Amino acid sequence: MDATSLEDLRAALSEGALSTDPATVENYRRDWTQSESAGMPLCLVRAAGADDVVAAVRWAAERGVPVVPRGAGSGLSGGSCAVDGCLTLSLDRMRSIEIDVETRTAVVEPGAFNAEVKAAAAEHGLWYPPDPSSFEICSIGGNVATNAGGLCCVKYGVTTDYVLGLDVVLADGTFVRLGGKRIKDVAGLSLVKLFVGSEGTLGIVTRAILRLVPAQARPATLVAIFDTVEAAADAVVAVGRTLRPSMMELMDNASIGAVEDYQPMGLDRTAGALLIAQSDAPGAARAEEIEVIRAACEHAGAKECFVTDDPAEGELFAAARRAAFPAIERLGALMLEDVGVPVPLLPRLLTGIAAIAQEHDVQIPVVAHAGDGNTHPIIVYPRGDAAAKGRAADAFEAVMRLAIGLGGTITGEHGVGRLKKAALPEQLGPDVMALTHRIKDALDPQGILNPGAAF
Ligand SMILES: Cc1cc2nc3c(=O)[nH]c(=O)nc-3n(C[C@H](O)[C@H](O)[C@H](O)COP(=O)(O)OP(=O)(O)OC[C@H]3O[C@@H](n4cnc5c(N)ncnc54)[C@H](O)[C@@H]3O)c2cc1C
Repeated sequence: MDATSLEDLRAALSEGALSTDPATVENYRRDWTQSESAGMPLCLVRAAGADDVVAAVRWAAERGVPVVPRGAGSGLSGGSCAVDGCLTLSLDRMRSIEIDVETRTAVVEPGAFNAEVKAAAAEHGLWYPPDPSSFEICSIGGNVATNAGGLCCVKYGVTTDYVLGLDVVLADGTFVRLGGKRIKDVAGLSLVKLFVGSEGTLGIVTRAILRLVPAQARPATLVAIFDTVEAAADAVVAVGRTLRPSMMELMDNASIGAVEDYQPMGLDRTAGALLIAQSDAPGAARAEEIEVIRAACEHAGAKECFVTDDPAEGELFAAARRAAFPAIERLGALMLEDVGVPVPLLPRLLTGIAAIAQEHDVQIPVVAHAGDGNTHPIIVYPRGDAAAKGRAADAFEAVMRLAIGLGGTITGEHGVGRLKKAALPEQLGPDVMALTHRIKDALDPQGILNPGAAF
């Protein structure tokens, strides 16, 4: 690429949007995975608005330059890691949030953090439910592109359930506006749904219209202590047969220990597993739901159940669960899984993961959004140990194969990205893979949008 071409790009963008400064570009090269295989971008564009996105994509399309869109870089699948010679397109400066109380919607630019949208909605007594554990460090654009889940999704659903409209810049630079502030709308194909979860491979999201709901009622929290993860999983299955708690999270012994070492919270280090459940049902139904959960836990063999009506105390346990990734990260190098299965098969998934850990001689602490069958087995191995890294990679594949064999998925919420791409055909099969490629070819015939990610 000659210098004139980059000057053309600079001229097409708002002032200061283009950067070729190596240190700045480096800061936008990788996501949370810190992938060693991230490529070296040609340049970085930090768009100030949709016009910059259109100009950047048009410039790239004319030259066949790959475009890697990027939100806040908290992704766990390598999805926003650069490829060689790409234009890294960061949406981190586009952060406006407008709350429309009448329609109960938020009109949000993609760089706004999830937590900022929640806070803006809360000022009007409203709530944006999707709550990835990373809600304080991830963007709405990234949430839309990965169809992010979280802790309350067991009752309230995932990102796609709250996206009413999207502005999208297509691979040739065409700007389209999809959906709107309408609760119901079946005109035309469900294109909004197509772009949600497309991991930056079909278009760049420049604005989202999000559905808001009334503020959540004060939840009551139950924490149950078990000798084994299997017993905890049995309790999850039993609860799922009768009700939907507003949270149902699991931590195993290794993740409890890691969190206690990271930021001591008084969790029981001797516990084989911990379940953290919440109910936000109205009035007397809240206590009734908590009693149903308690009975299921005790029936499954819980050693102890602790209940609190104090939301602040409940939040401390949720915070302990959210701290699991950074805590476990201190134990060594990680390969992070996101496999999910139908809820009744959760106990078999967890038993299988323990067997894989033993067989491959690696540690696999597990945390889980257990209520919706979505687990995060985290394969830990010593940094710089090539043999252990090889065993970890084998275990990584084995866990995905186990989930597929149980009718599950290789990723419940983080996305396929670059880390799980090789396993996708095994889950989807040749016909669905071919259909996926036909859609991609129709929307991005040059294959410039996030090449190498997702499929
Ligand atoms: C500690 C921790 C806890 C986490 N917990 C959860 C959790 O509970 N649930 C969950 O779902 N995830 C979780 N994540 C993963 C991550 O936070 C989510 O995947 C999040 O949605 C990524 O948002 P981001 O803004 O950081 O996106 P990035 O990492 O920058 O990008 C993610 C993907 O989205 C694409 N993308 C980003 N912005 C756009 C856009 N505007 N248009 C098109 N494509 C775009 C990128 O190309 C990439 O493929 C966690 C991560 C961490 C570090």
